[in-house]
Amino acid sequence: MDYILETVNCPVCGGNNYKPYITNAKELYGGTDNFFNVVKCCDCQMIFTNPRPTKDTIGFFYPDSAGYYQPDSKNKDNTIEEKIIRTVLANYYGYQFKSPFSKSWAFLFKKLFRHKLAVSHIPRFVPGGRLLDIGCSWGSYIYKMSNYGWKVYGVEINKKAAEYAKNTLGIENIFNGSFNEYKCPEDFFDVVHMSMALEHLHEPAQCLKRIHKFMKTGGQLIISVPDISGFEAGIYGRYAYTLQVPQHLNHFSPATIKSMLNKTGFTVEKIVHQSSAKDLVASAQYLDNKLPHNILKSSLIRKIFVKPFVFLLSRCGKTSRMSIYVGK
Ligand SMILES: [Zn+2]
Repeated sequence: MDYILETVNCPVCGGNNYKPYITNAKELYGGTDNFFNVVKCCDCQMIFTNPRPTKDTIGFFYPDSAGYYQPDSKNKDNTIEEKIIRTVLANYYGYQFKSPFSKSWAFLFKKLFRHKLAVSHIPRFVPGGRLLDIGCSWGSYIYKMSNYGWKVYGVEINKKAAEYAKNTLGIENIFNGSFNEYKCPEDFFDVVHMSMALEHLHEPAQCLKRIHKFMKTGGQLIISVPDISGFEAGIYGRYAYTLQVPQHLNHFSPATIKSMLNKTGFTVEKIVHQSSAKDLVASAQYLDNKLPHNILKSSLIRKIFVKPFVFLLSRCGKTSRMSIYVGK
């Protein structure tokens, strides 16, 4: 055994009245032969991994070769889609670049691309505004936001990814370390972004309180987390790609993320569900029966069945990943 377990109280309400939700869920992401319990708080319905590896030993489940440490090298700046998005941003989000298409097109694009824009995590523009990305990985989001006119800052714990953002993408303000060690003045940021990170943290509420301190009043917080109440998480249960124990310690639903944000001083403005076929297909690879995965991964099935189905699910707020727009 290369890790130590600890038993904890509910990360949302602090209570210790919980019942089993999924017992003996196998660690599937890294493929180690370890099993974890997931419990549900009887008071506030928060679902969390318990017991869980301690802060000092969780690193055992984060080998440096982990899949999410990979740069996205595709340059999409000249695509029609990017021009459409820039048209909407210039006409409706306060961005100060030239609109590629005229204003009459912008109205139509805004309607058609409403969901796409919401899941792209693009904030309303603030001239001279500062934007912080916590867990910025290789820096693709802040690189894009700096091209859109933001003064960008990134925090990234992985050394290789932080160096890439700094040296290859040329982003000056990259802090290589954890957000707990990051220092900055109070009321400093106009926007804070944190994508798929809160579910990994041992002290998510403490992290949100620090964000609250660093963010200006009227600032925008944009986060994304898996939704345990989503369709994929529901049908796959212990095999769900987004369950990912023990890397995921906190398994939020719209109600529990909202409750934690309210308790830490924020107000939720809107929750949008992402449209990604990945959760439906990737979860199937963990099943003992390989047939569903073989069917779902076929590109024809993905095009004619999986993608339209996930598109509808996301519009109904039922997929297993959500983006949350939060105000202070
Ligand atoms: Zn609770």
